[in-house]
Amino acid sequence: MPIEADLHLHSHYSDGIHPPARVVEMAAGAGLKAIALTDHDTVEGIAEALDAAPTGLLVIPGVELSSDYRGREIHLLAYFVDPDDASLRSALRRYREDRATRAERMVARLNQLGIPATMDEVHAAAGAGGARERASVGRPHIADVLVRRGAVRDIDDAFARYLGRGRPAYVARSSISVPDAIRLVRAAGGALVVAHPGLNLAEGDVEALVSEGLDGIEVLHPKHAEDQRRRLEAIARRAGVIITGGSDYHGPGRNRHDLASAGVSMATVASLRARAGGGR
Ligand code: AMP
Ligand code: ZN
Ligand code: FE
Ligand code: FE
Repeated sequence: MPIEADLHLHSHYSDGIHPPARVVEMAAGAGLKAIALTDHDTVEGIAEALDAAPTGLLVIPGVELSSDYRGREIHLLAYFVDPDDASLRSALRRYREDRATRAERMVARLNQLGIPATMDEVHAAAGAGGARERASVGRPHIADVLVRRGAVRDIDDAFARYLGRGRPAYVARSSISVPDAIRLVRAAGGALVVAHPGLNLAEGDVEALVSEGLDGIEVLHPKHAEDQRRRLEAIARRAGVIITGGSDYHGPGRNRHDLASAGVSMATVASLRARAGGGR
């Protein structure tokens, strides 16, 4: 099936490089018919993406929520949410504030370890067009600073030595529970899908998670191996949920996969829209 829709894209409001308008422009240039902007824990970029959408390119308001399930950090992709929904916005604002506080604590830990880094640098790395309070600050931004300062070789090294769970500069942050995510997204008119389960979940856990009330599984993701893809597809079919996909593109240098390197057809977009808000 041809890739018509890339349902997983990041902008500079989270850890992507480009402003939303640039992401939209690239998607149009790639000949896509639909995209979803799915920044981590924020919908700050949605309005700009919608404004930039040319005729013939559908921009689906989305968000990638950080959650946890059976002790694992997982990501949930919400689609067709109302970006102006008050409950959604206030929940996301709390997570954003928590991310900023947590980044400060991580920088303090790095400093205690003798590694000079400042919150100014982290905020600069977080981008958001210079609007600090609108950025969803995360470990990738701190990793950027460490790379730039030559304290680590690359992003992976930064996580392996300092930022990964259990490493000396790691600080946990609060994340939404799966039932709360389902309630919040449904109330905001959206559908909810588990992101790249091949990266962090056992297959039995994917099945259990989906049965909590998700609408789909992100089967098509650049980091899923072919055999993983096949097994996840089988789980989705058994559970009667939608097979979704996207490239998880963050911009040059942030990962090794291109925009539109994974995705779905417009028929899948229609199925998602039909499930949004709890519809069947
Ligand atoms: P945060 O949301 O601030 O906790 O950061 C989590 C993000 O960091 C994930 O979405 C990944 O993109 C990235 N990440 C997590 N673990 C690693 C790792 N070992 N190497 C590189 N990036 C990672
Ligand atoms: Zn990301
Ligand atoms: Fe993710
Ligand atoms: Fe992502």
